[in-house]
Amino acid sequence: MYSFSTIQKLQADLKNGVTTCVDLVNQAIVNIEANKELNAFLEVFSVSALAQAKLVDEKIKATASTNSASKLGKLAGVIIGLKDNICYKNHKVSASSKILQGFESLYSATVVEKLLAEDAIIIGRLNCDEFAMGSSNENSAYGNVLNPLNKKFVPGGSSGGSAVAVAANLCYVALGSDTGGSIRQPASFTGTVGFKPTYGRVSRYGLIAYASSFDQIGPITKTVEDAALITQIISGLDGNDNTSSSHNVENYIEQLHSGKKYKIAYLKECVEADGLDPEVKQAVLNTLNTLKENGHTIEAVSFPYLDFLVPTYYVLTTAEASSNLSRFDGIHYGYRSPNATDLESTYKKSRSEGFGAEVKRRIMLGTFVLSSGYYDAYYAKGQKVRNLIHTKTKEILSAYDFIVTPSTPGTAFEFGKNSADPIKMYLEDIFTVQANIAGVPAISVPCGIHSNGLPIGIQFMANYFEEGKLFDVASEV
Ligand code: GLN
Repeated sequence: MYSFSTIQKLQADLKNGVTTCVDLVNQAIVNIEANKELNAFLEVFSVSALAQAKLVDEKIKATASTNSASKLGKLAGVIIGLKDNICYKNHKVSASSKILQGFESLYSATVVEKLLAEDAIIIGRLNCDEFAMGSSNENSAYGNVLNPLNKKFVPGGSSGGSAVAVAANLCYVALGSDTGGSIRQPASFTGTVGFKPTYGRVSRYGLIAYASSFDQIGPITKTVEDAALITQIISGLDGNDNTSSSHNVENYIEQLHSGKKYKIAYLKECVEADGLDPEVKQAVLNTLNTLKENGHTIEAVSFPYLDFLVPTYYVLTTAEASSNLSRFDGIHYGYRSPNATDLESTYKKSRSEGFGAEVKRRIMLGTFVLSSGYYDAYYAKGQKVRNLIHTKTKEILSAYDFIVTPSTPGTAFEFGKNSADPIKMYLEDIFTVQANIAGVPAISVPCGIHSNGLPIGIQFMANYFEEGKLFDVASEV
């Protein structure tokens, strides 16, 4: 079986005839089937993946014979999985919800178009928490995803299937979405690299919306270099997403291994937080120490809003979710209750039967914080606090190149540990939500192994559109 290491090596192997795309896809299909127990894939797109593999093999042959690499895409033969909330034309997408069971996309997300244009191969759709709401992948209507490093432990969420597919070598790269940490937290729990771009860097067109002013699509990969390349390819202005940015798409690969010496701030309150696992703390401090030995400047700074991050995130995202999810009404999309007798009962019963418990909790919470009697006390106040967090984050990032925190307070936890207590589960996101509230880019990279055998992640945040710098520093860890 071909053993994938990096995209660059894969490209060389394909050009040198070590393997072919068709062989790689066939191997992936067998491998995914052999690891079915992990429940990472909801569906394998065997037919379209093999058809694309054939096409790319022909291109590789043609470019070899004419000796010009110009027609070959930068992702030729790269087998990529999609989180089940990213649309791929004529393929099913369900957001891991019963309400979208059987629904087929009418168009492809911009990120999918961009990947295919570079000759990538889309292998299937990956399990996640329903509508990307969760931190453990225990909220999928299609069952839990298991952590391949220890099957009694969660893989993290909501992009749990994406992280597991990469960690267990079921595909080479996966796309996830990150509203409050859903790429970085599962990456941290599975020993992979997870990157959330600056808000607006990557088009959200064709991403099933959770909280539109927070959502971003990003990669989960084995290496920082691969994350940089994928991000470079999926970034850019898109006429179909008015929040996408016209900021120039930089060459992130060229910025890697720059040798630059950076000024790095770590947040005192995060490192001293109650509930931070001492071994996680130690691993992060050790990494900072190594960076210091490498010539970077490391300083502790104060971030006074740590306790406001999770409440602000949950007030604002549930408000946006309650609005975004109103389109699932039993009429326009997906599931319609067979027990409905009139229009009102179609709405009520389809939504009651189609949505899972966590999604319903968030819709109700969001409706409450937006209701006329409580709007000022919750939603309007949440917006004000968002502004404070945003200003403070920008202030730190004008004095320092990066903000560092642990990616998560602990390592992956056992199934069921947090599921009875939503507040406990929500606190899993304490270090990741800041980047989404402020809109800045952030990456989680592995930085050690806990005595329980599970990986630990360190998070770096940078200023708006400084993804190049972020990949550069992360590649040093
Ligand atoms: N765990 C967070 C939540 O449940 C983050 C989700 C996400 O980023 N999609 O909302």
